Amino acid sequence: MQIDGIITPLDDQQIQDALEQCKVLVIGAGGLGCEILKNLALTGFKHLHVIDMDTIDISNLNRQFLFRSKDIGKSKALVAAEFVMQRVPGVTIEPYFGKIQDKDDDYYHQFQIVVCGLDSVEARRWINAKLVEMVDEEDPESWKPLVDGGTEGFKGQARVILPTMTSCYECSLDMFNQRTSYPICTIANTPRLPEHCIEWASVLEWPKVWGDVQYDTDNPEHIQWLFETASKRGSEFNITGITYALTQGVVKNIIPAIASTNAVIAAACCNETFKIATMAAPYLNNYMMYTGNDGVYTYTFEHQKKAECPVCGSASMSTTLDPSMTLTELIDWLQEKPDVQLKKPSLRTATQSLYMQAPPVLEQATRANLEKPLSSLIDSGDTITITDAALPVSLQLRVTYAQ
Ligand SMILES: [Zn+2]
Repeated sequence: MQIDGIITPLDDQQIQDALEQCKVLVIGAGGLGCEILKNLALTGFKHLHVIDMDTIDISNLNRQFLFRSKDIGKSKALVAAEFVMQRVPGVTIEPYFGKIQDKDDDYYHQFQIVVCGLDSVEARRWINAKLVEMVDEEDPESWKPLVDGGTEGFKGQARVILPTMTSCYECSLDMFNQRTSYPICTIANTPRLPEHCIEWASVLEWPKVWGDVQYDTDNPEHIQWLFETASKRGSEFNITGITYALTQGVVKNIIPAIASTNAVIAAACCNETFKIATMAAPYLNNYMMYTGNDGVYTYTFEHQKKAECPVCGSASMSTTLDPSMTLTELIDWLQEKPDVQLKKPSLRTATQSLYMQAPPVLEQATRANLEKPLSSLIDSGDTITITDAALPVSLQLRVTYAQ
C-alpha cells in the first residue's frame, strides 16, 4: 500500500508482528550494506543495527546511495542509519562505527538474524565462527541464521547459513580465490593478456630498474612508470588494452564494484531475511551463485558441510607431512592452504608452544624452533593446536609423517 510516496508495511497482521519482533544486525554499510538497510526498512523490519568501521570516501558516492558529498569523512554506519530513518518512518537503526570484533556475545545475542554485506573475507570468517560458537543446544535463542551476500564485479553470491546445521562460511573458504596470480613463466615468456604485461613490469622489471625501492601503488609516478613499461611490452607482443587505470587495478588488485550487482545480491539477501523472519515461504537452501560476467545465469545448490571444518565440523583436520619440513615451512603451508588461509598462525601442542606470534617474550622464546625440522618437535600422530587472528576459534591439525 502506498500513500504519498511513503511505503507502509504489509497488511497481514502476523507478518507485521513477526517483523516487529525480529531484530536484525546488518554488518557492512557500503555498496551492499546501503542496499540491505534500505530494503529491510522498506520491507517493514523495525529494529535494525548496523556496524561498519569505514568512513565515507568520494569514490563511494557512485553506488553507496545513502551518502552525499557533505558526508565525506563521516562514519558510513552513522550516516546510513540516519538517512534511512529519516526516509522510512517507524524504523529504528542503531549504528556502530567500529569493528565487529569490538562487540561481545551479549551484544550478538540480542539479534534474531545477522545479514552480512561485506567485502572482507576476514570479517566474514570472524562473524561466522562467532555465530557457530554461540550456539547453545539448550537455548534456541542462541541460534542466529546468517544471511551472507558478496559481490565481485558482475558476479555475486547469496547464501543462508544456519549455524551448526548447514555448511558454514569456513566450510566453503576454498571457493573464494585469493589474489589472482599468473604463472611466472607466462609472464616472462609468453604473455597473452594485458595483465601479463603489467605483472611483467611490476614483478620482473621494477626490481631490475629500481633495486630495493618498493613501488607505491598510491604514487602516480610509479604507476605511470609501470604503465609505460607494460605498454612497451604489450606492443612487442601485439597485446592491446593496457591502460593506466588497468595498471593501477592490477597492482592494487582492484575488482570493480558494480552498483547493479550489489542491488541484485542485496535484494536476494533481504528476501531470504524476510522469509526466515516471517516463515512466509521456504528460504534458500543454501547457496545461490549469480554470474553476470559471461551472459547471465544463477545456480542454486546445497553446499555441503565439511566434517573437518575447523569452525563447525566434528572431525579434526589431519595431514601427512614430510618429517624434514621445518616449522617455517609448515606456517607458510598453512597461510597458503586454500581451505585454511591463516594470517599469522601460532602453534602449540598439548605440552609445548612451538611458535607463538605474540606476546614478544613468547615469540622470542619460540623463534629458534622455526628452522627446526618437525620431527625434532613433534611425534607422528601428534595434534597441533593452531590459533590465528583470522579466527576466533582454534584449529586442530593431526600430523602424521610420510614414510
Ligand atoms: Zn563449517
